[in-house]
Amino acid sequence: MPGELTIGAFSRATALTPKALRLYDELGLLRPLRTDPFTGYRYYAPEQVPQARLVAWLRRIGMPLAAIREVVPLESTQAAAEIAAYWARQEHAHAARRDLADVLLRTLRNEETTVRTTPLTIRYAAMTDTGLVRDSNQDTAHATPVLLAVADGFGPDGGQASARAVAALRDAPPSTQPTTEPEADSGTETDAAPGQVLGLLADAVASARSRLRDLPGSGTTLTALLRPGGGDQLALVHIGDTRAYLLRDGRLSRLTHDHSLVQSLVDEGTLTEAEAVTHPQRGVLLRALSADAPADSATGAVELSLHDIRPGDRYLLASDGLTAVADEPAITAALAASHPDADPDRAARDLIALARTLGAPDNIACAVADVLPAPAPASAD
Ligand code: MN
Repeated sequence: MPGELTIGAFSRATALTPKALRLYDELGLLRPLRTDPFTGYRYYAPEQVPQARLVAWLRRIGMPLAAIREVVPLESTQAAAEIAAYWARQEHAHAARRDLADVLLRTLRNEETTVRTTPLTIRYAAMTDTGLVRDSNQDTAHATPVLLAVADGFGPDGGQASARAVAALRDAPPSTQPTTEPEADSGTETDAAPGQVLGLLADAVASARSRLRDLPGSGTTLTALLRPGGGDQLALVHIGDTRAYLLRDGRLSRLTHDHSLVQSLVDEGTLTEAEAVTHPQRGVLLRALSADAPADSATGAVELSLHDIRPGDRYLLASDGLTAVADEPAITAALAASHPDADPDRAARDLIALARTLGAPDNIACAVADVLPAPAPASAD
């Protein structure tokens, strides 16, 4: 018929191979105008070219055929929205895999190159406070030489949720834990092969999630530093808006990125850091640990990373009961006061006092760890 394109001509016009065109026909993705009942030849209308080119583009960005089938019939603004959502999911999945790959690479390289000559000693403290406004405390804080954790629960059983998530990490396999809890831990715990770190972390997080199964409607943030095998690396587990900071050489740096609505608005340039502090929706989380957010979903994915520890480092984990009221200069000042003495107890007390002077509208959780060079064996008692 006049104007019809043979599959060869249509293929040249759309940069799709005849083989691909036959497949898309069979899948109902792109039907030819007609198929000759005798020869089986397919004929296409010129008006189908833009649609076919869209299919070709979507294949090029890696969209699965099933998803393309949903997009192709949509009018362009709707199609654009679907494609943007697909791409956001891809980038999220990619970022999560990149983090895992980074942990894996660092772990493997560390196995080959690290010779631990000076075991590092950790001093630690954890504290929570209900604050001046709330009548219950749903925050949990925990510290040992091999685990520092804070969690901020929400929902009717928020307190249970935060306590259970932290307990799951505490009960993680023995290679992340010391056999005893000495006053000055000298890094002599069982030597976990660093290659086990990934598995240990994944198991610990899965266990935390499974302990929330019977608390629907409740959940928790979780930010934790684990020290597998008492070694020179810390594994950071993070979901939600509790935060990890490092004070090193007098400078405070943040190790975590809030999984919150306001942080995402700051990231995309819609909101300034200053506006975020007073935003009415600053408590809205985009990710949390809960029965309602599976591990592989955009709302349930936990971030993992590895950090090398150095003597003199001071680590702080804190809930938003501190960080929503105290800015980073104030937190730095409070941490610096007790840093020369490596007195983490005092640091935790000072930070809670700081939040209380600023009104303490929310529960406050802090965990602080100082990294010291181990005392020489001769001077140990
Ligand atoms: Mn809170």
